[in-house]
Amino acid sequence: MKTIGVLALQGAVAEHLDKLEQIGTAGKKVRTINELQQIDGLIIPGGESTAIGKLLDDFALTEPLEKLIKDGLPVWGTCAGMILLAKRICGQEKTYLNAMDISVRRNAYGGQLDSFITTCQIPAIASGKLPLVFIRAPYIQDIGKTVKILAEVGENIVAARQDNMLVTSFHPELTHVDDFHKYFRQMCCQ
Ligand code: GLN
Repeated sequence: MKTIGVLALQGAVAEHLDKLEQIGTAGKKVRTINELQQIDGLIIPGGESTAIGKLLDDFALTEPLEKLIKDGLPVWGTCAGMILLAKRICGQEKTYLNAMDISVRRNAYGGQLDSFITTCQIPAIASGKLPLVFIRAPYIQDIGKTVKILAEVGENIVAARQDNMLVTSFHPELTHVDDFHKYFRQMCCQ
């Protein structure tokens, strides 16, 4: 059976582990290089990208993780996780894992009080409409040629895929649906 890791430095870790359990997949908290090597895919949760980015450095995980992703480890970044995976972050020099060919805008919808829930059809993920929860969310401002858009809300790209990398601006782990987790599990089986 495949094991999906959840980067457990800060943020919505427990919620992702609960979802993995609900779909009958082994989940594992990841905090060390050794644990990184025991998984078939990694979820980088939402939280605060600056905090998770600093902890990645403190735990000496930035370089090994960057390399594993380059070598094909399936990875899914939700919200702050998407910011950590991006090659470009609007308005700041600092990037983190430099993995996915996207430009993201942090806090693109405003602050905590501008958090919102909407629904969206995402054919790649499920046939029905899916609930999307945005919390101080980023969106994708620009994509490279090989990035596939999965979902847009209004004018903005909020979910995308490039090879072994999946990103969502929103938090599927905070909703009743498990389609995203099943989709990512499939990515881990390829
Ligand atoms: N605003 C946060 C950041 O910039 C992301 C928020 C989230 O993950 N819900 O890192």
